[in-house]
Amino acid sequence: MTKINDAITAVQETVHNKDPHQTEFLQAVDEFLSTVKPFLEKNPEYVEKNLLAILTEPERILQFRVPWQDDQGNWRVNRGYRIQFNSALGPYKGGLRFHPSVNLSILKFLGFEQIFKNSLTGLPIGGGKGGSDFDPKGKSDDEIMRFCQSFMTELSKHIGPNLDIPAGDIGVGAREIGYLYGTYKRLKQYDTGVLTGKPLDFWGSKGRTEATGYGVVYFVKHLLADKNENFKGKTAAVSGSGNVAIYAIEKLQQLGAKPVTCSDSNGYIYDKEGIDLDLLKQVKEVDRDRLTAYTKKRPQAQYYEAGNVWELKIPYDLAFPCATQNEIDKENAEVIVENGAKIVAEGANMPCVMEASEYFIDKGISYCPGKAANAGGVAVSALEMSQNSQRLQWEKNDVDKQLNTIMKKIYESTRDAAQEYGSENNFMLGANIAGFDRVAKAMTEQGLV
Ligand code: GLU
Repeated sequence: MTKINDAITAVQETVHNKDPHQTEFLQAVDEFLSTVKPFLEKNPEYVEKNLLAILTEPERILQFRVPWQDDQGNWRVNRGYRIQFNSALGPYKGGLRFHPSVNLSILKFLGFEQIFKNSLTGLPIGGGKGGSDFDPKGKSDDEIMRFCQSFMTELSKHIGPNLDIPAGDIGVGAREIGYLYGTYKRLKQYDTGVLTGKPLDFWGSKGRTEATGYGVVYFVKHLLADKNENFKGKTAAVSGSGNVAIYAIEKLQQLGAKPVTCSDSNGYIYDKEGIDLDLLKQVKEVDRDRLTAYTKKRPQAQYYEAGNVWELKIPYDLAFPCATQNEIDKENAEVIVENGAKIVAEGANMPCVMEASEYFIDKGISYCPGKAANAGGVAVSALEMSQNSQRLQWEKNDVDKQLNTIMKKIYESTRDAAQEYGSENNFMLGANIAGFDRVAKAMTEQGLV
C-alpha cells in the first residue's frame, strides 16, 4: 500500500512543482488525489502505468489573442483559451467562461473537473474548457458581438463537431453562443453541431437552458427518495442568479420546496416568503439588471450589499451553491450546518473550499459535489449533439425525462462507489472514483497516447 501512497504523493508533488501558482487547479487535483487511494488499491495496474501523472497533464492548451473594438472606436485586447484536457471518452466537451477572473489556473481546474463530470454522465464526451478574461458586464450588445466574432475567428481553427464542442458557462449564454456560432458557420461553411446551448430556432436543444439547474435538483430528488423523503415543505438556500440558480429555484418550487435566497456579484437577497421567480427572471434574464431591481419591486425581501448568502443565519434544510468557485469557506460551512442544512448540492463548479467539503462530510451532511450534481447541463449538451447529428429536435418532455434518468444514474453510481470504496456518506470520493473508473479504463485500453 505504501507504493500506492508514494505514487499519489509523487504525482501531487510534481503537479505542485510544475505550476505552483495555479491555486485553483492544484485545489481540484489535491481533492481528487485525496480520494482515489482505495480505488487504486483494487486496480494497481493504473499506478504501474503512471496514469495519474498522465491524467493531470492536459492533452493540449491553446492560448490566443482576442483583439476587438469597443463602441468608442478603441482597439482592445483580451486573452482567449481552450484547454483540451482529456479525449479518452470522446471529443473534448465543456463550456466557455467569459469573466475577468479567468486565467489558466481556473480553466485547468474546470477542465480537470469536466473530465470526471462528463464520464459520470455515461455519454461519449471527453473533458475540455475555455474562455477569456473579457468582462461582458456593462458591454453593449455590439461589443459582445464583436468580441465573440474575434474569439471564434481563432477558436474555429481548433474545434469541430467530432473534435471539440464548446458550450456556455459564466458570462456565456444563448446570445454569446449565437454570435460564436454565426462566426463559425461563416468561416467553416456550415456545421450544426460545433457548439451546444444554441438558441432553439437554430439547432439548440429544448431544455438545455434549464438543464443544469433542473439536474442538480433531480440529483437531490433521488437522494431524498433513497431516504424516503421528498422536497415538500423544505426550505432551500440558493446562491447565484444566473442560469443554474434560476432553474434550480424553478424546479425546487415545482417540487414543493421553498427557495428563499439568491445573489449576484453585488449582493444577496433573503425573501422569507419564497423567491418570486417571475420577477427574478424579469430582472436577470430580460432586463439584465442587478438584484437591487428585485427589491425595488418586492420591498419585503431583504437585500444585503456585502458578503454572501452563506453568512446568513436563517433556518433551511437544503443548500444549493450555484454562484462560483470557492464561495463557501470553512466558516460558511459551519453556519450552513448550524442553520440546519442536511444536504449541500453544488450547482456551481467547486463552490466549496476543501476544508468546507470535508467539514460537511465529517458532520454527516450529504455533500453532493458539482462534478456529479451539476452534470445535467453537459448531459443535455451531449443530447443536443445527438439531435444535431440526427437533424432532429426532440420534445422538451423527452429531453427532460432523459435528463432525470441520467441524473438518477449519476446519483446511483456516486452512491455505490462511495459505499464500495469509502463510506456511505462520502459522495466526494464516490463521484471521483465513479468518474475516474471509466476514464482510466478507456485510457488504458487506448494504449499510451
Ligand atoms: N459549463 C457547463 C459545465 O460546467 C456545461 C458545459 C457544456 O454544456 O458543455 O458543465
